[in-house]
Amino acid sequence: MSLKVKLRPSKYRTRADCILCGEEFMLSGVRASLWDEKERIGNVCYECFKKGNNEFPSLLQAQVQRLRKEADDLEKLFKHSFECPTWETFQELEKLTDLFDKQFYGSEDYEDAFVQLEQKFKEILHEPKED
Ligand SMILES: [Zn+2]
Repeated sequence: MSLKVKLRPSKYRTRADCILCGEEFMLSGVRASLWDEKERIGNVCYECFKKGNNEFPSLLQAQVQRLRKEADDLEKLFKHSFECPTWETFQELEKLTDLFDKQFYGSEDYEDAFVQLEQKFKEILHEPKED
């Protein structure tokens, strides 16, 4: 089976991940994507595209190795226990940041107020002040 890169106009200039190298990139007006006979497999970034199809297998091989290592690293996390604040706490903090944004966004006091906001987060989360 032959895989084919197709070029199509892209409607949106959004971020995309490259299926070959895994890097995030911004789509230009031309989207390059890799297809098998029926389906689009993923986007190809412009750096990979420039390297040309002869390089695609080795780019993909390197990406497979990175993903395999990432999977191994994630797998090691299984044995840990997890701590996480409650969703209610998350929502409380979100309300706090909404108020903060309304009051300070774009103001001169923003930086100082942000330090205060970080302290308030730590109080609510019962975390020590120093980290
Ligand atoms: Zn790429």
